[in-house]
Amino acid sequence: MLGNYTYSQMNNCKKFYCSKRQSIVCKARVTLDDGGAIAEADVHHTHPPDEFFITKSGEYIRLNK
Ligand SMILES: [Zn+2]
Repeated sequence: MLGNYTYSQMNNCKKFYCSKRQSIVCKARVTLDDGGAIAEADVHHTHPPDEFFITKSGEYIRLNK
């Protein structure tokens, strides 16, 4: 999760692709370094972000519109 977009991890590597990549061909992706920090990010999505609500306990809830 980065900037209201959701990402899916690919093949147990440190690359994450936008979770909408297969449905609407979005090429945004994030690569993490060994420490789990963001090493590289392409955040040029072809669609608006999902809307999330963050609860007081830190959980993300997707808003259905
Ligand atoms: Zn995307």
